[in-house]
Amino acid sequence: MDAYPSTALRTVALVGHGGAGKTTLAEALAHCSGAIGRPGRVEDGTTISDADPEEHQRGCSVSTALLALEWRGLKLNVLDTPGTADLLGEAVAALGVADAAVFVVSAVDGVEVQTEVLWRLAAEAGLPRMVFVNKLDRERASFTRVLDSLREVFGAGVAPLELPIGEEQRFVGVVDLLSDTAITYADGPPTTGPVPDDMATREHAVHDALVEGIVVADDDLMERYLDGEVPDVEQLEKTLAAGVADGTVFPVLCGSATRGIGVDRLAALLCEIGPSPLDRPPAVVHAGDRVVEVAPDPHGAPLVRVWKTVADRHVGRISLLKVVSGSLEPDTVLVDSRTGAEVRLHAPFTLRGHTQLPAARLAAGDLGAVAKLGDVATGDTLAPKGTPVRVPGPALPAPVHAVGIRPRGSGDDDKLMTALHRLVEEDPTLAVRRDDETGQTLLAGLGETHLAVAAERLSRRSGVAVDLEEVRIAYRETVAGVAEAEGRYKKQTGGHGQFGVATLRVEPLEPGAGFQFVDQVVGGVIPRQYLPAVQKGVEEAMAAGGPHGFPVVDVRVTCTDGKSHPVDSSEMSFKMAGSLAFREAVERAATAVLEPVSAVEVEVADGLLGDVMGDLNSRRGRVQGTAPGRPGTTVVSALVPAAELVRYAVDLRSLTGGRATFTARHDHHDRLPAHLAASLGRPAASH
Ligand code: GDP
Repeated sequence: MDAYPSTALRTVALVGHGGAGKTTLAEALAHCSGAIGRPGRVEDGTTISDADPEEHQRGCSVSTALLALEWRGLKLNVLDTPGTADLLGEAVAALGVADAAVFVVSAVDGVEVQTEVLWRLAAEAGLPRMVFVNKLDRERASFTRVLDSLREVFGAGVAPLELPIGEEQRFVGVVDLLSDTAITYADGPPTTGPVPDDMATREHAVHDALVEGIVVADDDLMERYLDGEVPDVEQLEKTLAAGVADGTVFPVLCGSATRGIGVDRLAALLCEIGPSPLDRPPAVVHAGDRVVEVAPDPHGAPLVRVWKTVADRHVGRISLLKVVSGSLEPDTVLVDSRTGAEVRLHAPFTLRGHTQLPAARLAAGDLGAVAKLGDVATGDTLAPKGTPVRVPGPALPAPVHAVGIRPRGSGDDDKLMTALHRLVEEDPTLAVRRDDETGQTLLAGLGETHLAVAAERLSRRSGVAVDLEEVRIAYRETVAGVAEAEGRYKKQTGGHGQFGVATLRVEPLEPGAGFQFVDQVVGGVIPRQYLPAVQKGVEEAMAAGGPHGFPVVDVRVTCTDGKSHPVDSSEMSFKMAGSLAFREAVERAATAVLEPVSAVEVEVADGLLGDVMGDLNSRRGRVQGTAPGRPGTTVVSALVPAAELVRYAVDLRSLTGGRATFTARHDHHDRLPAHLAASLGRPAASH
């Protein structure tokens, strides 16, 4: 692909609710730019952006695709993002490198939850936003309904540039409100003509909405408008462009991605007023303790951020880059500021879906890719030697849903861990951890789909078949009373025998007190040197588990008596005696099961507060309090048993339609009610 200067770059993320038509629109844009002859179909798995087996199987995007297109002398970097809440990290990362966001909204379904979530994120990032009302050819499509909800949800600044001509089956084109012309798409290229007579009244009404949407960007213009002065087209266009660039005016276009209606006009608008990287604020760069701003200067030192990593079947690992400043040319040598390692960016290229197009030069603000960068991970900054700076990316959503993961075949543990660590390096919204208490390897992410896709990808690449299972809860046991027992270990197998006897008393300690071992042996009935062995036996028995099979904690063990033999006693025999005595004493004292309890904070839209509180109660949660969160939300704090939170991320999402988020961290262990303990763990008899 040709080298494009920064002024000729337009990087735009297509975002919105799943199924609104982002992938189809990306395909239509590719078709319209001449990059592909015939648009593929999502249903057939033939689009250029959904090319992963995981995507074909699901019929929706699971990973952001970059489509570098060329259009009227400009380079259009289109980012097709997945729309489900589970894969929000993908969209957030794309918004972090885009210079504008196009919200694809279905004319049938209107503004949906993910549209709102993403809008808020884009607004927080100050990103220019536009709306493409798609699927106007579908049954039950209504532009008026969608426009009303856009204005209601996103407020002043929503500026409809177009009106559909006809709807549903009869949707044939759009009216351009600024130029007062009709553009129709019969077969072949679009044709321009006068606005149909029967649309005059409607055009008038929506034109007012357009002017109102634009003048909000300019106080002076707004004042004059309120005084009755109507700005001319030139003034409107100028204010529109400025308003889009500073994120206050949101143009709305309409069309149909499957029929290619309005798609060329979206591309044209992006080219005309979609900001170039040079119109955007400088990047914030951390240089040690200092924070500096770096503008995208094509002549500056090369500074690159890795915003995504993908694995390609043929070339291996591909790092997707954003050129923050400078220009990237083949064989540039930079240093990864996280690892300090030198990396040679041998042959930068750009991507059109999975197709790699060589790039002679990538100018400041551009997106590109480089293969095989060794240990370079997503989020890393590559900078010239001697300038260890870091360009932070957007705050990614934290992993909230965990599952256990284990290899199906034995002996694959090491391979699995290596593959998991590679996955996490590629996708920072995943996390891997081993729970030493339950022995489970946990993979955490944003939701079930996210984890299922990650597991499939892992298996496909590493060849390790894996099973996902529910998270095991780290229950513990503590003794319920005081009891004493003797442990006697005796073996006479001819020659040297084994002999050790220890009497132990167990008693409960305060929660969190751990383990105490007290020596009250008198008269040397157990020789000094064997007491540590008794303690070791106790510790092993504690770890192996009490009557319910869980590790025993918060217990004082006192060694009160014992017996030894001058020849047959050994460390081994006292260790065994300690274990036996402990088990017997614990059995007599009986145990209570302790369960981990998490401190949970849920931020929820005010209207759903009651539902969330009720649900927390039904999870044996104890609400500790509420506090105001971001505007329109409340934060509920509660203590909830971890066992009740295993699927909380999934359940909360469906309970609130995605209008709540939460964090949970381990707080303490608490007694599990006896009726619940009865159904847990292994029965005492199996000991
Ligand atoms: P995404 O999840 O936002 O990427 O949505 P897709 O592009 O995968 O589209 C979801 C479904 O809607 C697919 O079956 C598309 O064929 C269909 N679709 C997308 N755009 C249009 C459109 O403009 N008109 C009609 N009738 N269907 C569309």
